[in-house]
Amino acid sequence: MSLLRFQVVKEGFCKKAVPVDEPSGRPSAYFGQQVFNREKMFSYLPKKAYDAVIAAIDNKTPLSRETADAVAKGMKHWAMDMGVTHYTHWLHPLTDGTAEKHDSFIEPDGKGGVLEEFSGKLLIQQEVDASSFPNGGIRNTFEARGYSAWDISSPAFIIGKTLCIPTIFISYTGESLDYKTPLLRALNGVDEAATAVCRLFDPAVNRVYSYLGWEQEYFLVDESLVAARPDIILTGRTLMGHESAKNQQLEDHYFGSIPSRVEAFMRDLEIECHKLGIPAKTRHNEVAPNQFEIAPIYEETNIANDHNLLLMSVMREVAKRHDFRVLLHEKPFAGVNGSGKHCNWSLGTDTGVPLFTPGKSPEQNLQFLVFIVNVLAAVRKHNGLIKASIMSAGNAHRLGANEAPPAIISVFLGRQMSGILDKLQAMSSSDDFLNIDGKAQFSLDLPQTTDLMIDNTDRNRTSPFAFTGNRFEFRAVGSSANCASAMIALNAAVASELIDFKAAVDRRMAGGEGKMQAMLATVREMLAGCRDIVFDGNGYSDEWKAEAARRGLDCETSTPLIFDNYLTEQSVAMFRKTGVFSEPELKARNEVKWEIYTKKIQIEARVLGDLALNHIVPVATRYQSVLLDNALKMRQLFTPEKAGKLAAQDIEEIEKIAGHITAIREETAQMVEARKVANRIVSEREKAIAYHDTVAPLLDTIRRHIDKLELMVDNQMWPLPKYRELLFIK
Ligand code: ADP
Ligand code: MG
Repeated sequence: MSLLRFQVVKEGFCKKAVPVDEPSGRPSAYFGQQVFNREKMFSYLPKKAYDAVIAAIDNKTPLSRETADAVAKGMKHWAMDMGVTHYTHWLHPLTDGTAEKHDSFIEPDGKGGVLEEFSGKLLIQQEVDASSFPNGGIRNTFEARGYSAWDISSPAFIIGKTLCIPTIFISYTGESLDYKTPLLRALNGVDEAATAVCRLFDPAVNRVYSYLGWEQEYFLVDESLVAARPDIILTGRTLMGHESAKNQQLEDHYFGSIPSRVEAFMRDLEIECHKLGIPAKTRHNEVAPNQFEIAPIYEETNIANDHNLLLMSVMREVAKRHDFRVLLHEKPFAGVNGSGKHCNWSLGTDTGVPLFTPGKSPEQNLQFLVFIVNVLAAVRKHNGLIKASIMSAGNAHRLGANEAPPAIISVFLGRQMSGILDKLQAMSSSDDFLNIDGKAQFSLDLPQTTDLMIDNTDRNRTSPFAFTGNRFEFRAVGSSANCASAMIALNAAVASELIDFKAAVDRRMAGGEGKMQAMLATVREMLAGCRDIVFDGNGYSDEWKAEAARRGLDCETSTPLIFDNYLTEQSVAMFRKTGVFSEPELKARNEVKWEIYTKKIQIEARVLGDLALNHIVPVATRYQSVLLDNALKMRQLFTPEKAGKLAAQDIEEIEKIAGHITAIREETAQMVEARKVANRIVSEREKAIAYHDTVAPLLDTIRRHIDKLELMVDNQMWPLPKYRELLFIK
């Protein structure tokens, strides 16, 4: 593959990038090549504009129109130097994935020709028809018009010949119609709340960043086989298919050697990622056959999330070049592991202090405990909401299915961390940890070696939310999800706790308590109220389900009902307090969630119905005729007694096949009827519940009959590629 590198040279008033040969193919040579990053901005923008943009990104200072014009001009120059002809506002609507509408740079020049134009106005804001995207009635409640608006904190990038500008997407009256707007609000919320707390320890702190490192799991299937599986094409998963005789029982796939065809795909994908500034770092096989993972180095959450969305679309394209189909669905195959997207999450200050890492001084250790306990309190209080944030029709197959995180959100801390919290709780009074000057004397009894993490070896794979030494790993997120959903709920909930924490400390200090004492007392009080979110045992066990219910954790398993958590008084108040969502926004977004859930099950039900009646039943009937024919011919050839004996098994098989065919026909008819009934329901919530309760279960029962038939019917007749073919890439 020939790689192009670009060199910045001065030309006229503006510096220009020209392609040069890529001599070494080293990632450092082409990393970020397609991104309008700080380096490019520095080259393409006047110094004043550059400084203003950087200040806007780093310090949230407002950006003037004049600066926006200068940025637009520089961006256009850079893009055109890269051979770009079009630009698009790149937005994250409430569907899976991203949306874009491409416009060319051309404007009439008044003399019959055109010139390339791109103004600050076009960069900053564009009108988008909100009615073409899921909006949950916001459009009716407010206005049909929507706007996309430039997110200056995320750099523009080039895909093909198009300049993509990351944008938020809002209604005319300012309600969010996307994932990015509330994500930015939540990040802002956690920044403000955490900064206020950090300043109690160090007044030099001006900002707290949220960091995200996702691990994207996916399946690869040969494209030619996918072409013969309408279920994969239309729903992203197999709706039928008997387990292969061999699947993951030998545990030989995880970290096994990567098939060369797959490795070629991965290499190509990583190059594309690096050109787009996505710091892809790790690749390996996953547990199930044909299942793999790619993970980057963690980044600021908004950027990391943009990069994950970008990755998902780039993956699909790169896979095509290698005759693969990428399956991002949470459960493409029954009987083998599904796919998740672990979200490794942490907070850190602009002074370089990671907040989930113990420090070297007693004060730093107290700060560490304050943040850990605030996270525990947030996950405890907003337990159901955090589960709702990762719930979807696809992820419902993973959760609670004894392979992935359970459908109850608890936090794993590990022995060492739990020991520290025990100690904190066991203190008779805060004074135990304070000397006479009110200075902290706080020891965590940890080896104080630099950066030695709290022991993260005792990993618990059954926990949905695990502390892993310097970060939390939210493992319940689905592989196809927009991580923003989880990051919004988590960052907002933590922001809310930090606000309360700070207020409680302020109250104590106003009552005359010293700062350290006030913080210790508050954190201990908080811990007492949330400690029961910690569970280090086996999350799959039935004992845990019973225990979690006793603790009052959310144990609901029905996806549409889990969405109700967004509308509880507590959630509405929390989102209002943190400025992340207004109540009308929450209501509208839940309408969208229910609607999408219904549509996903509806499509699956239709596809399964078609396949069952058009593909499976006719083939099973044909095979049944072969057996019948055989039995009849036996009668012609042999004595009735002998024929009866010889054909006995055929007849038994014929009866079984007939039984399955009848069941498939009846249950498919039932499923159609259940859909009809559900479709008449007006309320999106009630309709989703009906789909969950009456349609979805039939998908499984119909499938069971089909999978039985797959084992009986002549292999040559079977119309669909089987699991053993789909799942083992050579
Ligand atoms: P695992 O062993 O769970 O696969 P890795 O070491 O591969 O873990 O890291 C998983 C992800 O966690 C990577 O994206 C990594 O950059 C990210 N990560 C590491 N430290 C942090 C942190 N402090 N905050 C957020 N993400 C982090
Ligand atoms: Mg991990």
